[in-house]
Amino acid sequence: MRRGICVKCRSDHVYVLAGRAGGYSEVELGTRWSQESYLHFYACAVCGYLESYINPDRLDKVVKHGRPLRPS
Ligand SMILES: [Zn+2]
Repeated sequence: MRRGICVKCRSDHVYVLAGRAGGYSEVELGTRWSQESYLHFYACAVCGYLESYINPDRLDKVVKHGRPLRPS
């Protein structure tokens, strides 16, 4: 997705959106980039597939608050 090709349908109609998490199962898509946008999404405009990523400036919070998952 980050290279502009959908990993599900191979379309090149991939868009980047700013957003923030609204809950465990809800994702709120923002319409503009702001201080509150701590996630970004890659969305396919053909099949609707969506990937979400934490913005690079917030990755330190992953280490601080997350539980490491070690390969098994
Ligand atoms: Zn797609």
